[in-house]
Amino acid sequence: MADNEFEARRASVAEELVARKLDALAVGGGPNLRYLTGFTGSNGLLLLTPDDAVFFTDPRYRIQSAQEVSCRVQVSTGPLLPDLASAAGRRKVRRLGFEPGRTSYEAYQTLQAKLGLKVALEPVPGLIERQRMLKSPAEIEAIRTSVVTNSKAFEQALARIRPGMSESDLAAELEYRMRRLGAEKPAFETIVASGVRAALPHAQPTSAVIRNGELVLVDMGAMRDGYASDMTRMVFLGRPGHKVRSIHNAVLEAQLAAIDSVRAGVTTAHVHRVARRVLKAHGLDRAFVHSTGHGLGLEIHEPPRIGKRDKSRLEAGMTVTIEPGVYLEGFCGMRIEDTIVVTTAGCQVLTPTSKQLRVL
Ligand code: ZN
Ligand code: ZN
Repeated sequence: MADNEFEARRASVAEELVARKLDALAVGGGPNLRYLTGFTGSNGLLLLTPDDAVFFTDPRYRIQSAQEVSCRVQVSTGPLLPDLASAAGRRKVRRLGFEPGRTSYEAYQTLQAKLGLKVALEPVPGLIERQRMLKSPAEIEAIRTSVVTNSKAFEQALARIRPGMSESDLAAELEYRMRRLGAEKPAFETIVASGVRAALPHAQPTSAVIRNGELVLVDMGAMRDGYASDMTRMVFLGRPGHKVRSIHNAVLEAQLAAIDSVRAGVTTAHVHRVARRVLKAHGLDRAFVHSTGHGLGLEIHEPPRIGKRDKSRLEAGMTVTIEPGVYLEGFCGMRIEDTIVVTTAGCQVLTPTSKQLRVL
């Protein structure tokens, strides 16, 4: 990511500060800090004012922050928060915005105590997250690279699936392939669920052995250059029966219909309804127990959410997943998931992997 991209992101948040009559914003660690500075370390804070930005870190990150961060860096020898409060005091900050969902109560108290009662701490929920929903061309390329890496890892690991292999063995193989192909790490704990365990939507891989005649659900994502990908595919060892095939076809039909309904301006609730309607026609809507998808980027789960009660509208440049699924206790579970980019006319599916039931 180029320095001017981070500068543009900070400028855009700074405009929002002016509009909200805030003198500054304190940004804690995590994805919002990375989004605004490029910093990939574990200890950093940002004080952003309408015309200035100061990044705080500790001596372990002196060299790294000089390489990664394009705004002014202050290396603190103690805790960072008091130094941020002093810097805010020197700038005569009277209204300081903070991220309520990402600030601990302890940090809030420290900040209030150091700033004194003349300074108002104003919660600004979702300010940076809203901006992060719309991806820049460079971000879309990063997500595409992550998606391609993830799909390649899936293909390589698929060639090694054998009856007798445990779910954990397969998860380890998938993650090993991912890293060999350039990912930093998995974007979340890889899900491998075989047989009746696939009816658990978020099953963790166990020592359970994958047997012939069983369905395997694989839900995996890579984290590459800080950006996540997310894909779910169904694999069958042996010859699938009629019921397995027909459920897979129904889920696929729902997924394709939902993808078809995506375009800028459409509500996310509408996309969810489209997937649900298809599953209802197959008598499977009661087995569809989660939302249809979620945004992804620097985090695996970001706004917007694509579910029944969601009010947001899709906009061009959003990257989201489409992942309807059905879960039948004691029988199986199936989900098909792609990562897509919303465009004005529709969407572009980034995931190159075939969606057909993979029979091995
Ligand atoms: Zn997933
Ligand atoms: Zn997902």
